[in-house]
Amino acid sequence: MKKNEFLNPYNFIELPEHKRKQYEDMDRHTGVIEYSVTTKTPLFIPNTSTNKAFKISDEKKFSDPEKAHYSYDFYSYTLLKQNQRYDDVYHQPVIPGSEVRGMIRNLYETLTDSCMSGLTVNEIPNVSGILKEEPVNTIGKLAGEFAPCKNANQICPSCALFGTIGEDITSAAASKLRFADLLPEKMQANAKSYYDNIITLQTLGGPKLENVAFYLKKPYGANFWTYDYYTDKKDKVCRKPGTLRGRKYYWHHQNFNYTEGVEATNLNKTIRPVKSGITFKGKIFFEDISEKQLQELIWIVNGGNTDSTEKKDICYKLGAAKPLGLGSVKCSISRVLERTVCLQDDTIEYKEVNITDRYSSLSYEENGFSNTGRRVFLNMCNYHAVPDSIMISYPREEEQMEDEILEEGYLWFQNNREKTDNKGMKIKQELPPATNVATLKCHRLETQNNKGRSSYGRR
Ligand SMILES: [Zn+2]
Repeated sequence: MKKNEFLNPYNFIELPEHKRKQYEDMDRHTGVIEYSVTTKTPLFIPNTSTNKAFKISDEKKFSDPEKAHYSYDFYSYTLLKQNQRYDDVYHQPVIPGSEVRGMIRNLYETLTDSCMSGLTVNEIPNVSGILKEEPVNTIGKLAGEFAPCKNANQICPSCALFGTIGEDITSAAASKLRFADLLPEKMQANAKSYYDNIITLQTLGGPKLENVAFYLKKPYGANFWTYDYYTDKKDKVCRKPGTLRGRKYYWHHQNFNYTEGVEATNLNKTIRPVKSGITFKGKIFFEDISEKQLQELIWIVNGGNTDSTEKKDICYKLGAAKPLGLGSVKCSISRVLERTVCLQDDTIEYKEVNITDRYSSLSYEENGFSNTGRRVFLNMCNYHAVPDSIMISYPREEEQMEDEILEEGYLWFQNNREKTDNKGMKIKQELPPATNVATLKCHRLETQNNKGRSSYGRR
């Protein structure tokens, strides 16, 4: 483990120059994909029917009666009671189809150069900088054509397949896919065997868009930049909207370990995750989609088909606490059935034809997936990309490297800015591109050894 560098838990897949338009293929296919999802690291999706599932929520007292420590059990079909505790009660875990749908949609958007349907378009990030004026640019404006599609006549491939609401109801495109809930492959009489122990997780904040060194591309020759302007090497202010880094992805933690001994507070949560190595079975029903769409879908749901090998195992991230390493899953197709209609003796008959072999080996290129994002996508989805020797963590300084739990997470960001001679501001390190497993450095060591030269540690 290197002492003075770390890998930020997330990075970005760059957006292509233009959004693709929905396909014009006219052939139509209807049927079902039967597949499995296997947990490679623990998985957590909350059962939100109670936020006090475990005794720890009672044990933790706060002087402020408004505060509480929330605890959640894994999702199941059981409606949990707010006044009951479930430390010793176990339910059959269920992965809601909607969770997998969201994951597959994100992947499909990336691979087909589609819009970013999950974007919070009206958000205006507020960056404290040099100018004392109100920020103006919304995330939606900066995303340009990659903001969620609005007009159903000009939608992207992903909105055409997954559906979109659109500005008015008449322009809505219907979804052509239905994701059923996933149940464990092997039904255990004692549901306890699906789960890890109850664990309190480290505090997870929401995305901090004001960290421009991560969320925005550095403008050429810039000292400092925000969503509205940047300053050049002479600290002159240039008004220019910021460029978003792209689609956010999380690295896999192939040697995942829980951080033990995290104190329960009003900011963090206690959960009971499904352990690694559990396989769930599910079905995706497709209706009236083209062969091309089906092929693309099969590549994704089949865990990257032939682009996935033992050494470069394509896995995805599902559920909560992704930055801490939870939620790595392997998807795999068991079979694909197409429903065909034929007329027999004047009656309509539906037949299910097994078409699994027809598609199961198309490659990334053969599917015509995104060129822009290819290298970073395949790197970030590779379960084995990050070697043992690299610590995956939110930014930390050298004196924080030994700490199990990162407190004062702002320190690195604070030290990542410095005043310039002209009373301007300079950002020292920006997030390096994820084409490699490129780490960031702690500042203290950097200034000692590299005399302030801003360079990234690379493997
Ligand atoms: Zn779209």
